[in-house]
Amino acid sequence: MKDFDFIVVGGGLVGCSIAYGLARQKHRVAVLDGGDRSFRASRGNFGLVWVQGKGANFAPYARWTGQAANLWPHFAEQLTAESGIEIDYQRSGGMHFCLQEQEWDERVSEMELIRQHTDGMFEYEMLGHDQVKALIPQISSNVLGASYSTQDGHVNPLYLLQALQQGMDCHQVRYFPNQVIDKIEARQDGFHAHATEGVVSAGKIVLCAGLGNRGLGDMLGMDIPLVVDRGQIMITERLQPFLNLPTLHVRQTAEGTVQIGYSHEDVGLDDGTSPSVLKKIARRAVTMFPFLQRVRLVRAWGALRIMTPDNNPIYQQSAECPGAFTVTCHSGVTLSAMHAGPVAEWIAGRAEHNQINHFSTDRFNVSQN
Ligand SMILES: Cc1cc2nc3c(=O)[nH]c(=O)nc-3n(C[C@H](O)[C@H](O)[C@H](O)COP(=O)(O)OP(=O)(O)OC[C@H]3O[C@@H](n4cnc5c(N)ncnc54)[C@H](O)[C@@H]3O)c2cc1C
Repeated sequence: MKDFDFIVVGGGLVGCSIAYGLARQKHRVAVLDGGDRSFRASRGNFGLVWVQGKGANFAPYARWTGQAANLWPHFAEQLTAESGIEIDYQRSGGMHFCLQEQEWDERVSEMELIRQHTDGMFEYEMLGHDQVKALIPQISSNVLGASYSTQDGHVNPLYLLQALQQGMDCHQVRYFPNQVIDKIEARQDGFHAHATEGVVSAGKIVLCAGLGNRGLGDMLGMDIPLVVDRGQIMITERLQPFLNLPTLHVRQTAEGTVQIGYSHEDVGLDDGTSPSVLKKIARRAVTMFPFLQRVRLVRAWGALRIMTPDNNPIYQQSAECPGAFTVTCHSGVTLSAMHAGPVAEWIAGRAEHNQINHFSTDRFNVSQN
């Protein structure tokens, strides 16, 4: 295998966004991706490009995610033009329904905190039941109201991944599937990644291997703390359009299917499903939209979120092995525009982006040596 400017380890949404961004800057990039049996959050997520609720505990992340959402319209346009793949991106606004008074009060506090963190850049409204019903006639009287932000949207995450792969291809990225890296050497002449079928070398390396980043980071002097969190999602048969904007728990895709989700479980590396959690998710959706109880489900799946201890992203260059970076995060759909743009520029050394310093592992007080 040939030498490259960059090796990107991992071909999920994070790795492909970074690789696409680096290749658009004319770098020679190789993506080394694991096998079909890998954990792949990028193939099991909900597809929200989401701002509301993000960064209440960390002001830099509230600003970061807002900027990502603002980059999305141009990013989607450019990616669609280059790849020729329609990714069903819509910035239609989004809602988070509140069923109880307490939920409403907590939501108001959270939204207000994010507004303050972003100096008013984040805009939202709290809508009462009647206002929600005016926009979504099928909503049940069980719904007290909703937080609503025009900055939210959604996309088909599988088409997004496919478009990024096609975009990488347009910019001569070499994608190597079924190449599990089990050893990385940092030498004077660059990084040497030992993959299933050989060694690939490059001047710089970027770890975007999701849950694989912890073990790979150890090889390059980076302590990358990870938390695994399982989410389960169901999908229905195709229905007539009834929901023209996404909500945190229910969204209708461009094809008409309805995705129902939102669960969090600490079950280790188990990406299966469980009837008890699916029942809970379904019940909540039916409480919001009673007609859904008569609709057929066609599939359900579990997928593992790649979380950090404070839920915020990690962008880090290794102090021990300069030239080795990691991008480890949840919300890789939302952040895709940021990863293909400013983060790829930072990794390439083209721009400083002071904001990125907020996301180093220093915040966990973890020694980098
Ligand atoms: C249930 C659920 C719902 C979600 N909903 C949303 C949402 O609505 N909006 C949003 O923005 N985000 C959402 N996310 C988060 C989003 O899906 C992830 O942030 C994103 O997919 C992470 O992408 P990734 O490339 O880091 O990881 P992955 O998709 O897991 O990819 C990692 C890749 O690295 C490869 N790899 C691992 N180890 C090695 C190795 N040693 N050598 C070579 N390759 C390796 C694997 O093969 C894999 O392809 C959700 C996640 C889940 C689980």
